[in-house]
Amino acid sequence: MANLEGSACAQAFPFLDLQAQYRTIKPEIDAAIGRVMESQHFILGTEVESLEREIANYCGSRFAVACASGSDALLLALMALEVGPGDEVVTTPFTFVATAGAVVRLGARPVFIDIDASTYNIDASKLQSAITSKTRAIIPVHLYGMAADMAAILEIASRNSVPVVEDAAQAIGATYAGRPVGGIGLCGCFSFFPSKNLGGAGDGGMLSTNDEKLADRLRVLHLHGGRTKYEYELIGMNSRLDALQATILRVKLRHLDSWAAGRKHKAERYAELLYDHRLTDIVRLPQVAAKCTHVYHQYVIRAPHRDELRAFLRDHGIPSEIYYPMPLHLQRAFHFLGYKLGDLPQSEAASREVLALPIFPEMTDDQQKLVADAIAAFYRDWDRHR
Ligand SMILES: *Cc1c(COP(=O)(O)O)cnc(C)c1O
Repeated sequence: MANLEGSACAQAFPFLDLQAQYRTIKPEIDAAIGRVMESQHFILGTEVESLEREIANYCGSRFAVACASGSDALLLALMALEVGPGDEVVTTPFTFVATAGAVVRLGARPVFIDIDASTYNIDASKLQSAITSKTRAIIPVHLYGMAADMAAILEIASRNSVPVVEDAAQAIGATYAGRPVGGIGLCGCFSFFPSKNLGGAGDGGMLSTNDEKLADRLRVLHLHGGRTKYEYELIGMNSRLDALQATILRVKLRHLDSWAAGRKHKAERYAELLYDHRLTDIVRLPQVAAKCTHVYHQYVIRAPHRDELRAFLRDHGIPSEIYYPMPLHLQRAFHFLGYKLGDLPQSEAASREVLALPIFPEMTDDQQKLVADAIAAFYRDWDRHR
């Protein structure tokens, strides 16, 4: 491993290089920020309205409502559906905490169903048996940038008259059967957290829907529950997108498809490199499910001896991440739900084996080769010392 040690440590690079992205669009971003500063109009306004229209178009929805974060988008969607105490919402435990956190914050109960081992998204064959007379919504998460099995989910949802809220925080631009995510269920929730595929310079979120009544309700709910100043018809919240964020996101949205193409190219190259190292019967590569396009928010492999591999990569200057090291049903915050180890075995196994490799459009061939070479070196070594 002499060559690896020599080069990799010196060439450490970030897991996600947002500075590299900024360098490619700096004049556009700086000009857009300058325009908002000149206007001194910071809350809602034309930048936010334009972004709402552009995101609605982008995901094939009639309406979009901007808000302060992806977490708030989920919360607002459930508030608009009047989810509350005594209600149940079916979702996945293998996701970011906000998906199920929104349910609990409203006093309702998340009902977790296990994931499919190859897509990491909810296993639709487990959905029907989780639905009860208390079920008020189903929240599939399009994890890592690829849609859940929406045909099966929508079929079961409509059979039971339960609305589907898509958690599309990681998957803007991904499609299912040719339709963009976020525009498939009753509504879609997006996050503009800086590390997301469409990331702002801070927090931000968006809801998309084709349902005019729902869009109207969301508009009221995110502005304190009032339609006009100082007249309130609902208990709402203050969850708005800043004009500065909107103007930055509008610039970035114009680049999103080419960035997604860049990510896809990196994913294909990882597959080639790992295949050439004969690693594909040791680690499992991401699978693209039928009817899906993948936007590779994360490139996640499934790796034996994952924690040792991650430590080895770190020692060689190569960053990696784990999404997610503990499924939600085993987290202390959700302990009161009564789940225990063994209840959702696919999610638990995934949490022990998944490893996200660095992937971003500006990543160089050399950086990708370093990652693949280091993974190969780890498994060669592991075999020798076992
Ligand atoms: C990022 C994320 C969220 C929350 O978005 P924020 O903008 O960070 O509040 C929700 N769900 C999933 C799956 C996410 O990845």
